Amino acid sequence: MNTSVVLFTSDLRVHDHPPLRAALAGAETVVPLFVLDRAIEDIGFAGPNRRAFLADCLTGLDRRLRDRGGRLVVRGGDLVEQVRAVMADADAADLHMAAGVSRYAHDRERRLREALAADGRRLHVHDAVITVLPPGAVTPAGSDHFAVFTPYFRRWSGQGPRAVLGAPRTVRVPDHVTSLPLPTREDLTGLSPGLPRGGESEGRARWNAWLRDGIDRYGERHDALADDATSKLSPHLHFGTLSPVELVHRARARSTPGAEDFVRQLCWRDFHHQVLAARPRAATADYRTRGDHWRSPRSAARDIRAWQEGRTGYPIVDAAMRQLLHEGWMHNRGRLLTASFLTKTLYVDWRVGARHFQRLLVDGDLANNQLNWQWMAGTGTDSRPNRVLNPVLQGKRYDPDGAYVRRWVPELREVRGAAVHEPWKLPAEERARHDYPGPLLELAEGLGRFRRARGLD
Ligand code: FAD
Repeated sequence: MNTSVVLFTSDLRVHDHPPLRAALAGAETVVPLFVLDRAIEDIGFAGPNRRAFLADCLTGLDRRLRDRGGRLVVRGGDLVEQVRAVMADADAADLHMAAGVSRYAHDRERRLREALAADGRRLHVHDAVITVLPPGAVTPAGSDHFAVFTPYFRRWSGQGPRAVLGAPRTVRVPDHVTSLPLPTREDLTGLSPGLPRGGESEGRARWNAWLRDGIDRYGERHDALADDATSKLSPHLHFGTLSPVELVHRARARSTPGAEDFVRQLCWRDFHHQVLAARPRAATADYRTRGDHWRSPRSAARDIRAWQEGRTGYPIVDAAMRQLLHEGWMHNRGRLLTASFLTKTLYVDWRVGARHFQRLLVDGDLANNQLNWQWMAGTGTDSRPNRVLNPVLQGKRYDPDGAYVRRWVPELREVRGAAVHEPWKLPAEERARHDYPGPLLELAEGLGRFRRARGLD
């Protein structure tokens, strides 16, 4: 019997899945395979939050496949060895998988291609599974990628995404191919207490609720920190339990300004992916160097710890950092202002912040995280690399009533209204009642240090 293998990576769904559909079209049986890749474990890239979400996604994928008569095969160890072994067990001639963007993903593809060719088997890599357009699908004259978002968005919008594929009705998997037990989140410790659940059913339910109740007002509300008015779909997009192609089609069908704004955010995701695909070094090295000599992590250790723990004395920064600790997720406005605070006000290397985010974020994503950090540090694609966000003004603007701060910084729960953004201005006897630290440094001091370091003064 003719069998193909589908290797799942960041595409843990059955809806709109080109590799699965192609495998089913060309073979009577398929082996849906996920490898717990030892190399990724060794990098120590994923903290417990993402591992837990991944475990939910694998359970969900297995369930979806069982609904269709199949199951998920899980293996662990060296990815190439495991794929070879499964293909040999199943006597499969073809392997289908989604194209990735990172250096690691490119390497993985190359190693698989070589190993399979040596075994007389074939690799088929499918585009537009993880992103809407494949990196490199649109390019400016004279370059292999866009370094500026707006012209990219214009070209991206003009290029219709591929059509959406339905989920297959039946998936037949050969009985004799063995699997490890599925990992579960119960096996893990150290999870953020408010961590969301993963899986395709969860993702589709959240997406449908977002279409019903949120998307049309996205444009006006997305920056309001206290409102929870963004989709919170980022972990589902990271693990591919939702297809970005399907989201774009369905959002556009609404034809509302809010839905258009939402599609623009999905384009940001593609934008960063095409930058990383073209410049894989940007995961660790400055995309555009500004000659920074960051403070050493040792001399800045006290400041870094205060930032990580949400005890800088700037309430909006602390609220956002505590949201990250509690939920494994942070509002985009919070990510912007905490990244500005670390890299500019404290003048600490963006890599220190990116690493902390990667450890905790359930949506932690190499392209989106590293390149957004670089954006805010001014070493990336931002055309205003020296802008510094003032946390007091950010607080007053995006949390005008102070509700977001009071939610995450309970020490300040009794302070009313916008006064919560400047607790140092409260009367001394009121200050004495709150167990909340004074500011780590004066904003003017941080600004002066940054401007001198960048040669702006
Ligand atoms: P929504 O506002 O509902 O947006 C919908 C989707 O669009 C998001 O789920 C996301 O996939 C995409 N998107 C939105 N904004 C951006 C953006 N600026 N860049 C790329 N894609 C975007 N996003 C991640 O997915 N993973 C990360 O590791 C990550 N790290 C970040 C680090 C910093 C310092 C900053 C400033 C931003 C980071 N972002 C990251 C981008 C953004 O903050 C999140 O995608 C967003 O907050 C997720 O919430 P949401 O799903 O409710 O977004």
